[in-house]
Amino acid sequence: MTRVLFSAPRTDWEEYREPLGRALDDVGIPAELEFTLEPERPEGIDYIVYSPSSQLEDFAPFTGAKLVQNLWAGVEAIVGNPTLKQPLARMVDEGLTQGMVEWCTGHVLRHHLGMDAQIGRSDGVWVPVVPPLARDRTVCVLGLGALGCAVSSALAGLNFDIRGWSRSSREVSGVACFSGETGLAEALAGAEIVVLLLPLTAATENLMNAERLAMLPDGAVVINPGRGPLIDDEALVAALDDGRLAHATLDVFREEPLPPEHVFWAHPKVTVTPHIASATRVKSAARVVAENIRRGEAGDPFLFLVDRSLGY
Ligand code: NAP
Repeated sequence: MTRVLFSAPRTDWEEYREPLGRALDDVGIPAELEFTLEPERPEGIDYIVYSPSSQLEDFAPFTGAKLVQNLWAGVEAIVGNPTLKQPLARMVDEGLTQGMVEWCTGHVLRHHLGMDAQIGRSDGVWVPVVPPLARDRTVCVLGLGALGCAVSSALAGLNFDIRGWSRSSREVSGVACFSGETGLAEALAGAEIVVLLLPLTAATENLMNAERLAMLPDGAVVINPGRGPLIDDEALVAALDDGRLAHATLDVFREEPLPPEHVFWAHPKVTVTPHIASATRVKSAARVVAENIRRGEAGDPFLFLVDRSLGY
């Protein structure tokens, strides 16, 4: 019998139970697999499916677990847990990726086309400003992983002049790729719209500080669906207030939910979205969970393992 701990709020289990059963059937995992929500014998658990909103904090008793499968793309809530000795996989889910592509494309197009100038306009004033073509707009995507790669490819498909930046050097068709510290300055210089799709790690925290924000051209727009602490909030507000930056669209924050009194809510140059850029989609995520269990049972290497030394 293979035992899987589903460590997530009960409402998640209600959503996942059937899709997981189907996905396990599809990958040929035999019926002798049992899910449990509260294990009586932690040492008897073979796999842990983990949501960062679960109560589980101590992984030490799960001495037989072959894998902890995170249900979210971001692993910052678990990667530094000192009790976690088991391999950790993050979620790379094609539904989540597609959602992120759609959200980022929409928000890039909003700023590229200057939609705010028309939406809600009822003053009868005719101001015909024709937006430039995408090929004349430079957009920089920070992070070229599962999400950054898909987003930069989609924007390249719309003909934007796309740059991407990552830790190691990458090649993405249609995207001018940069890496490392010097690459960041090159990627940011002249980028009128910058999209943050980096994980939160010791190396990326406060990456967009006053110095980096100053590398952007006047009138630039920052779009952050990555993680709140990637940006130095005070530096961002200062750059918006003194007119150097035109707008920030923020989906993620240091504190979530963003407190009602936070300066971002009322700031005329900030758009707040409540961490909805994309979510793990149950059906496609269930397939990822099932495939990793299949791999564990077959002795094959797991997909999407986190490098604990890098933190993502
Ligand atoms: P990923 O596949 O692990 O990709 C991460 C990318 O960031 C890689 O290209 C990586 O470089 C780069 N990177 C990491 N550290 C770096 C550094 N110090 N300097 C430069 N580049 C660095 O992650 P993902 O699946 O694309 O997800 C990215 C993040 O999106 C997640 O961690 C999460 O925080 C966020 N997210 C947000 C939402 C939302 O709804 N708002 C939803 C899902 C995910 P290499 O290519 O060299 O490894």
